[in-house]
Amino acid sequence: MPASIVENLKVITQRIENACIKSERNPSEVRLLLATKTVSAENIKIAIEAGQNLIAENKVQEAKEKYESLKSIPHESHFIGHLQSNKIKDLLKCDISCIQSIDRLDLAQKLHQRLLFENKTMEVLIQVNTSNDESKFGIHPDQAVQLIQQVSELETLKIKGLMTIGLFSAETEKVRKCFQLLNKIQQETIVVNFPNVEMKELSMGMSSDLEIAIEEGSTIVRVGTAIFGQRIHPDSYYWDESKS
Ligand SMILES: *Cc1c(COP(=O)(O)O)cnc(C)c1O
Repeated sequence: MPASIVENLKVITQRIENACIKSERNPSEVRLLLATKTVSAENIKIAIEAGQNLIAENKVQEAKEKYESLKSIPHESHFIGHLQSNKIKDLLKCDISCIQSIDRLDLAQKLHQRLLFENKTMEVLIQVNTSNDESKFGIHPDQAVQLIQQVSELETLKIKGLMTIGLFSAETEKVRKCFQLLNKIQQETIVVNFPNVEMKELSMGMSSDLEIAIEEGSTIVRVGTAIFGQRIHPDSYYWDESKS
């Protein structure tokens, strides 16, 4: 297992590079984020020691459990799961630098209140549901710009871009449409130029579709399975924080 993590990382890094070359992008524009749900702290350590520095959990409980074991090793942590407001306080104890899954105003407001109380700020991405899939989270694409505007008024939250989960489909062009939609919302928002909003990140692309995402402008690819192997539960289990 440990040897394969290092091997898998080489393969993923190569896939990212090849996709960048294909779309005439500089590989330094695309960050690899390790989606570490269900992965043990031991195995995460192996990946960090192999040169990775960005990891993310989906569940607050898991983030808390691994935080202690990993805090002595320099790395950066994001949060990519569906966040319930009653877990904000716990999440803020885990030294998270960016919450990628802000998808509703009431969550943003509660996060803002807590950050004010703790005298902190937080980088966030707005999660958009680009696949029309009822089972996934994210703001409806038609309401994304409005949510960005509302969140931009909460001064502890620093919007850095957008996140999406592409459609799970073998039909490449349908998957591509999701990423194109996220890119389009980014462009629309850049034109409006909201104060306190920096629309630079597009977090999109996973193990199976990172090449398409990179071709459509991804700056952060979130990869789990292709590095750490298959998980026992279906993804819907990890995307729903209420099922913890
Ligand atoms: C699990 C997960 C990923 C990574 O998915 P893989 O298919 O395992 O690469 C990316 N983004 C989110 C939000 C996830 O929950």
